[in-house]
Amino acid sequence: MGYNVAIDGPAGAGKSTVAKRVAKELGFIYVDTGAMYRALAVFFLKKGLKPEDTKEIAEVCKEAEVSIGYEEGIQQVYLNRENVTSLLRTEEVGNMASVSSAVREVRAQLLELQRELARTKDVVMDGRDIGTNILPNADVKVYLTASVETRAKRRYLELQEKGVECNLEDIARDIEERDTRDMNREIAPLKQAEDAILVDSSDMTIDEVVDTIKSLCK
Ligand code: C5P
Repeated sequence: MGYNVAIDGPAGAGKSTVAKRVAKELGFIYVDTGAMYRALAVFFLKKGLKPEDTKEIAEVCKEAEVSIGYEEGIQQVYLNRENVTSLLRTEEVGNMASVSSAVREVRAQLLELQRELARTKDVVMDGRDIGTNILPNADVKVYLTASVETRAKRRYLELQEKGVECNLEDIARDIEERDTRDMNREIAPLKQAEDAILVDSSDMTIDEVVDTIKSLCK
């Protein structure tokens, strides 16, 4: 059994930035489970499906095999052996992932892959249900959150830096919608595990959050 650090929390709380740094500094592997849901979303979009086609999504998801690998320490995601890492970060894929991740068959498809990685390796795994469902016996569990305003502002600055036109109110609305979907779905909803440490990053720097999480790992 590897040493397992589980980091859950809502969209835009800084999970991936922080988890990547913690993993690097501890010499662990970083596992981005959101990227796996995004890879399945790419598959559904390629099939011409829309987020509301949940019945078809449940039917076709068995045809998709997701796996991960690492290139120079950076997680790569493969969909039926094709590297789809560069396709994962669009709004369309994010939206599809946010809706399709509530489908039971979609979650079942990724559960074993995530557990197997944690069984064999020291991992920092981030997602929505890692501490509650995927790795209930994780050595360290963190629930990383921040206010909607802070999360929207971070996302806004990130998009502006990339030269993408965007509007702060639209981003905040989108974040709230995703939170609502993740927290209210029937299967593996986003919530703080009873034994998870709550870290609110609203007024913290990345370094402070990284140090806080590292100090929990022995
Ligand atoms: O974290 P990220 O935005 O990349 O995740 C994409 C979507 O996948 C999220 O909106 C969330 O609904 C879903 N997800 C999930 N469980 C996880 C990781 C992500 O339901 N463990």
